[in-house]
Amino acid sequence: MCRVDLKKILSYEETAAAIKTLSREFPFVNEMTIGRSLCDRRILALRIGNARENMLFCASVHGNESITTPLILRFCFDFCFAAAENKTFCGIPVRDALKSRSLTVVPMANPDGCEIVRRGAVAAGEYESLVEKLCCGNTELWKANACGVDINHNFDADWCSLRKTEERRGIFGPSPGMFGGAYPGSEPETVAMISLCDIVRPCHVVALHTQGEVIYYGYGTPSEKETRMAEILAMTSGYALDTPNELSGSGGFKDWFCKKHKKPGFTLECGLGKNPLPESMLPELYLKLRETLAVAAVL
Ligand SMILES: [Zn+2]
Repeated sequence: MCRVDLKKILSYEETAAAIKTLSREFPFVNEMTIGRSLCDRRILALRIGNARENMLFCASVHGNESITTPLILRFCFDFCFAAAENKTFCGIPVRDALKSRSLTVVPMANPDGCEIVRRGAVAAGEYESLVEKLCCGNTELWKANACGVDINHNFDADWCSLRKTEERRGIFGPSPGMFGGAYPGSEPETVAMISLCDIVRPCHVVALHTQGEVIYYGYGTPSEKETRMAEILAMTSGYALDTPNELSGSGGFKDWFCKKHKKPGFTLECGLGKNPLPESMLPELYLKLRETLAVAAVL
């Protein structure tokens, strides 16, 4: 069905091609451009189904976590295929589920960061020399966007206290990761996610990161509903529920969403190992998480 090989790390172009294929193959899937990255790459999203109530998945917020892009795209293909054929997926009657719930999926929220990790500093265009200088020739650790701002530190959720924590850790400016930018929402990738949520108003969001096999949920004290949902996600994945440390406990997309929209939000730290996880882990990651993704879609 899919002409793009989803068993490997995808380039930005391959990701765009997979999104196009999905929207062409399935009449209930639409492609959207939700913004443009610093290097002018389109930030793409999929809308699966038309139901007013909507949940949101996002992946590859961090450049060196781009294994989450083929992971979520493969899920999208299997989920849509089951809907088209009126079959169940992981026990879920997908076509019925889509009558009351649609999905918004951002498979590559930080395309510049992903391309920097895949191809090196040259992928950063006018920011090439900055990236070169910051990563000293090794882009494997690159999490940020093209100008060295960590998108998951750039959201307006206790951003000032996160800034102080960054400074205590010696991060005062652009960096391969963990620098929150000049002010919350300073980066186009952050703005794209904020605007998307303001438009589609998701009932909950699931952000896919790597790694650790843990699930973070809510912001501050989680609601009962949030805790219940988190427990279901933990049960299906075998992942542990966890509380983030002070460097990943605020300023992130999930944090901002929970705080601003007052709805449940989850971060799935997929897989175990050292980032970037090798693409050879994709099949086992998908097998382990497809049910969790399906449940997260319809919860
Ligand atoms: Zn991450």
